[in-house]
Amino acid sequence: MRCGFCLPACPTFRETGVEQESPRGRISLMKAAVDGLMEPNHDFEEQMNHCLGCRACEPVCPAGVQYGHLIEQTRDALEDHTQTHRPWIRAVRRIAFQQLFPYQQRMRLLGGALRLAQKWKLNQAARKTGLMKLFPPHLQAMERIMPEASYQGVIGLIGERHPAKGEKIATVGLFRGCIMDVLFAGTNVNTVKLLTEAGFEVVIPPDQNCCGALHAHSGEAEQARGLARRNIQVFQAAGVDYIASNAGGCGASMVEYGHLLHEDPDWKEGAEWFASRVFDISDLLVRFGRALQFSGSAVRITYQDSCHLRNVMRSSDAPRRLMKQVEGAVFTEMKEADRCCGSAGIYNLTQPDMAGQILDHKMAHVQAAAPDCLLTSNPGCLLQMKLGIDKHDAAGTMQAGHVVDFLAERLVPAK
Ligand code: SF4
Ligand code: SF4
Repeated sequence: MRCGFCLPACPTFRETGVEQESPRGRISLMKAAVDGLMEPNHDFEEQMNHCLGCRACEPVCPAGVQYGHLIEQTRDALEDHTQTHRPWIRAVRRIAFQQLFPYQQRMRLLGGALRLAQKWKLNQAARKTGLMKLFPPHLQAMERIMPEASYQGVIGLIGERHPAKGEKIATVGLFRGCIMDVLFAGTNVNTVKLLTEAGFEVVIPPDQNCCGALHAHSGEAEQARGLARRNIQVFQAAGVDYIASNAGGCGASMVEYGHLLHEDPDWKEGAEWFASRVFDISDLLVRFGRALQFSGSAVRITYQDSCHLRNVMRSSDAPRRLMKQVEGAVFTEMKEADRCCGSAGIYNLTQPDMAGQILDHKMAHVQAAAPDCLLTSNPGCLLQMKLGIDKHDAAGTMQAGHVVDFLAERLVPAK
């Protein structure tokens, strides 16, 4: 329809005011390339790479344009001859997407290596000797806020099966994630704690793998499909009623397995079975679980939506309802909490200037809300919030955390 309703919702359009940096502009470019009116040249690829993939343009579109599918197909078509990313980005992507994320054992080794480096304070030594200055500023900042890595992951920490407290409501399969289980294994442990307390039996299938979100967003659809097939097989074999995600980006990718595999007759049905069972933990707790009680000392909190949780899984109310239930917590809604923070998968690494600009605006709203703790529901957003605090919170009093950890620390167990 070219109505332009999506323009004010688009972070890159808001930052630049340029039509090509908007959903409508990008769709026009895609159509011009498909119709043979233009070659998908360097500038075309740049515009496609500038898109955050936040999908804020979808809920506001009166015509129901599924922009997320269009940008993924475009990137997939471009992937074979993309030259716009710098060689080191292409190399890191190749290693991470093809050699690491699909293999849980390798992710465990990576977690172990990171943990050792942190334990031996190699990162601090690199800082002191000036070695870190060889890296771009955004990577130096990323090193400063990196959480403690885990070499065990959630299964190594607490095992695969966890009975429900009290009468069982349903069996939930926990999707543990790949980066999540290395950098936020404690959040996975806390997810199990909340789910069992709410009446769910929890199983963590050990053979599950990466959801494929980063692959699909980067134009590597065939790899994403391979990872999806593996997850479908593993969770079907586990006989679960629901699949819990605690990372908005992973959850959004998994609710779209039906679309990802819609042209594969052998997997279409399984993909729809899987996708219909995926919920964010906040929705599982609010919609299907027994009511929980939370209590703690006085704290001011605010919430940054995960774009994919909000715009694709359409979940924004459940995490807020849970946070507002916590006795002692004062929740303040910050301005434009629904706007992307600039993290967007690996966007803050591949497009650091635009990501930094978006983050600076975000932090102005955070500071106006003046929370003690800034909460979110996705590991990428959480790291980006930590980067923002590192840069903007001169007093050093603000913290960032995952909603799950915040709730689990204040959970009052039923008697
Ligand atoms: S994508 Fe939707 S909101 Fe944007 S211009 Fe087209 S019809 Fe309008
Ligand atoms: S996905 Fe986000 S950045 Fe990309 S066009 Fe839509 S609103 Fe803009």
